Amino acid sequence: MLKRMFYCWLLVLGTVGGNAQAPAYGGKLKSEQANMDILHYTIDLALDIPGHRVAGYAVADMRIKEPASVLLLDLMDSFTVTSVTVNGKAAGFAHDHHELRVTGSWPAGPVAVKVVYSGRPMIAKRPPWDDGFTFTTDSTGHPWVAVTAEGTGGKLYFPCKDHPSDEPDAGVDLTIRVPAGMVVAGPGLLVDAKKGGYHWRTRYPINNYSIVFNVGDYTVVSKEYTTVGGHKVPMQFYVLKEHADKAAHQLDLLGMMAMIKEKYFGEYPWVKEKIGLVETPHLGMEHQTMNAYGNKFRYTTIAGHDFDGLMNHEFGHEWWGNKVTAGDWADYWIHEGIGTYGDALYTLDMEGEEAYEKIFQHYVPRIRNDKPIVLGKDIAEEEAYHPDIYPKGAFFMHTLRYVLGDSIFFPTLKRLATDSNTTYTHTASTEDVRRLFSAAAGRDLSPLFHLYLYTTEKLEVSVKQQDSARWLVRLVNIDMPLPLEITTSGETTTKMLDRKGIVVASATMPLVDKRTFYLKKVIYE
Ligand SMILES: [Zn+2]
Repeated sequence: MLKRMFYCWLLVLGTVGGNAQAPAYGGKLKSEQANMDILHYTIDLALDIPGHRVAGYAVADMRIKEPASVLLLDLMDSFTVTSVTVNGKAAGFAHDHHELRVTGSWPAGPVAVKVVYSGRPMIAKRPPWDDGFTFTTDSTGHPWVAVTAEGTGGKLYFPCKDHPSDEPDAGVDLTIRVPAGMVVAGPGLLVDAKKGGYHWRTRYPINNYSIVFNVGDYTVVSKEYTTVGGHKVPMQFYVLKEHADKAAHQLDLLGMMAMIKEKYFGEYPWVKEKIGLVETPHLGMEHQTMNAYGNKFRYTTIAGHDFDGLMNHEFGHEWWGNKVTAGDWADYWIHEGIGTYGDALYTLDMEGEEAYEKIFQHYVPRIRNDKPIVLGKDIAEEEAYHPDIYPKGAFFMHTLRYVLGDSIFFPTLKRLATDSNTTYTHTASTEDVRRLFSAAAGRDLSPLFHLYLYTTEKLEVSVKQQDSARWLVRLVNIDMPLPLEITTSGETTTKMLDRKGIVVASATMPLVDKRTFYLKKVIYE
């Protein structure tokens, strides 16, 4: 979710606040919805581009855990619901406050709720930072439609249980009907594209804000990618025809990124479907198997190769956000912070340690530290979002790597992205991350997690002169020993420090952590 993406982080300061007309996505799970386990969504809509309308139906297949008299779905009020059936029988319903309350009497077990509806979806004001539909045209005058929903969720245009903790286990069938000649890009695999109706299907669990589509004058440029596990996966770029000549190079770059991400995070998560990219009128968003791309083919250079930082960031969300999904937006940093850390691993791999360290040295002045990264529990997306989740979350991983060492850190990071307890249908929490890294380290890392994620404090280190050539160096505000580099007049060495501290000999005032592995405050006394 590079909703307000870190890549252009400096550009987006001040955009926090989101879309005032959009209802919350996530937060405290409603009691009626706690009884529902979503299995699958079917969405079948005709898109009226000049009218900015959709019309059709959606089916939510779910299992209800206890007998229920209410099935509660989220759907924005801008739509009119004309009928609701449950397991094929007409049901009563009320639709207001962006909630569709279906009433009746059902025993525990599977139910299919079919909703027939139509209406005008919210228009995005500043996508991707504000959600909604974008109706525009490309430079040749062809219609170009995009959907962004990270802050609002699926309720933007289909009835759903709009909570990050419950993805449809068996995926989605998404059919969008458009006039002949237009192309619709969507998640998963294209089942058919007959007479203007594009039917996309994913059989993987998927977050609601990835259940979106794009319409444009696209052509498809493809290249095969072989994963680290030996799977042959198509890379498909739905690119505007006017930019088709740029697509092959873009896929070459994407293939390089995929190899490096697989090295650190494990195999590409959606090997039975595709690595997808679709050109959009907005900058980007991490839509599962069909990442939105709007960076206009602008590159920087890493190790002599063209580099697209925006694409690298969004693609990283296939692991952090899409495969490893926070069940509560309170833990948003797992998507953005670890994802942004993964962005830096591209530099580590291509240019080495010093270039990688520079990235984090540059992050330091950008970190606001005005509120904690994790604000509590049951937090909605707009409330949980904070610019610091990108650089501070990433910096926390940088610190963890230094504290644990590569032989523990990197296998544990990969395990977080591959363990069945924290991937696909199982969501992940900050506590899961803490537990996993603590177990791998063989010691409780809670104080470090607490300092970085639950407070706005920096690590405080005191350097106190004892006499003309001796200095006491100690930690001030954390109850665990940590390794720190200390540079004296003679040498730079790594020492384990705690609150008691150690005395070092130096003719000059010692420097602490000069390569910046910590967010810290050094107090000279
Ligand atoms: Zn992101």
